[in-house]
Amino acid sequence: MPTPQTFPLPPSLASLNIDIKEDYFDNLEPHLVGHLIWSEFPVKVYIAPPENNLSESAYQRYQQWEKAAQSAIASWHPYIPLQIVETEVGADILIRRQPPRIRGKFNPETGLFDLPRITSATATVQFYATETQPAKLKHQMIIEVSPHQTFDYWVNNITHELGHALGIWGHSPHQGDIMYHAQTRNIPTISPRDLNTLIKVYQQPTRLGGAFPPSSSVTR
Ligand SMILES: [Zn+2]
Repeated sequence: MPTPQTFPLPPSLASLNIDIKEDYFDNLEPHLVGHLIWSEFPVKVYIAPPENNLSESAYQRYQQWEKAAQSAIASWHPYIPLQIVETEVGADILIRRQPPRIRGKFNPETGLFDLPRITSATATVQFYATETQPAKLKHQMIIEVSPHQTFDYWVNNITHELGHALGIWGHSPHQGDIMYHAQTRNIPTISPRDLNTLIKVYQQPTRLGGAFPPSSSVTR
């Protein structure tokens, strides 16, 4: 495994001036590789295209979903630079329109907390080694969003899952935060507590983005 390292805070986070000092960093679960943070910007986000042969009304519904995804991306963009890309290959975050499947224990919606938020959206992390010399440890986040929701909840759920995908691997105990564990009637937006937590996450060491040691030094 690469050695943990700390990256400089992205300028978009370093320049924030937040009056409220609270955060919920202590509620997060660091992963085996360290915190799940990005070190190359912009982070590339791919929005899955519509299924083939949709009816006119089904296609219009897809467009609403796509608009919700774009809106969620725009709401994080001032804090972590994000770029919508046209190809799935090489994307850091994939957003798919499908009922989420329940996966492994690293899923913050299912494994790490007693109160699952909702099963209408999930974020899942996958790891891979780059083909560069030396190989680097990288990650990809997959967000699955149920097609069966209204526009406002799509925006809310995708914004919440993007919070996980950007490194907030856990939930807030406060209802007014986007990373609150449950869906609420009053739809929250990204709060000072969410941002303070994100800043703290990006100050932590991670093995992600690091190079694997030369194979001669690996003991079996
Ligand atoms: Zn969540």
